[in-house]
Amino acid sequence: PRTEKLSDAVVDTNPYSRLMALQRMGIVKNYEHIRSCTVAVVGMGGVGSVAAEMLTRCGIGRLLMYDYDKVELANMNRLFFRPEHCGMTKTDAAAVTLAQINPDVALEPFTMNITTLKGFDAFKASLTHTDTGKSRVDLVLACVDNYEARITINQVCLELGQIWMESGVSEDAVSGHIQVIIPGDTACFECVPPLVVASGIDERTLKREGVCAASLPTTMGIVAGLLVQNVLKHLLGFGQVTRYLGYASLQDYFPTMAIRPNPECINPLCRQSQAAFKVKAEQEAALQAAS
Ligand code: ATP
Ligand code: ZN
Repeated sequence: PRTEKLSDAVVDTNPYSRLMALQRMGIVKNYEHIRSCTVAVVGMGGVGSVAAEMLTRCGIGRLLMYDYDKVELANMNRLFFRPEHCGMTKTDAAAVTLAQINPDVALEPFTMNITTLKGFDAFKASLTHTDTGKSRVDLVLACVDNYEARITINQVCLELGQIWMESGVSEDAVSGHIQVIIPGDTACFECVPPLVVASGIDERTLKREGVCAASLPTTMGIVAGLLVQNVLKHLLGFGQVTRYLGYASLQDYFPTMAIRPNPECINPLCRQSQAAFKVKAEQEAALQAAS
């Protein structure tokens, strides 16, 4: 091992060489692959904006960002946005900041509500390749704070056969979770809502009208870090991609689990995806047995 102190002249100032060191050290086979990846971040609040910044600093190829809200002074207890952003849409403020941090990332801000009828169609169209009709993104990240938006993301991803990752922070700000949803393979958001699994909280009560939810930049930053770490593992093929990871900060408890799809899921597209996945898995098993 190298023990001598490097002189200033040899210190590499290129930010990418520290990322490429992951490859030299054998953690990832091909770090450069990240340049060809596209990720959609839905919700640019306390978790989404930080996740978007991490992906930008990691050199993601293309980033689609969705939010309908504007930056307010009340957001200053979180990371990323600054007072001078107040009044700007979160998507525009993020695009300006992220372009300064890493001009090589292709940024696509979408200022829209994904849950309206028009919004649903526009959201799906923005994720769809116009020629093939298939998804043009590698991953969708749900960083929203309400049930309806998650149901919308679930539906669009089921329709596109798109893998997505859900994230959330509890109303009392001291716990959170991330979850990978692979249509047909894992539980979808309607098979069993993740927070019900995690803590017995009804997801619908997560954001109650008129109730001022607590929020901590620590929990949101940790959940964003857990989320993007899982994104990197998934995109670059290293380590073990977690299916579900909870974070309960009061006990420092990190439960993990695999949530199987529910054969009686209320979403017919989910049941259809489950059947298709089963057929595919059986074919692959038969092929393997034959070889
Ligand atoms: P507050 O707790 O004050 O509401 P917040 O709205 O920033 O803060 P976060 O949990 O930090 O909440 O972030 C969630 C983000 O998701 C918000 O920026 C919100 O605007 C966005 N969001 C929620 N629902 C939708 C939707 N249907 N379409 C687009 N963006 C959405
Ligand atoms: Zn389901």
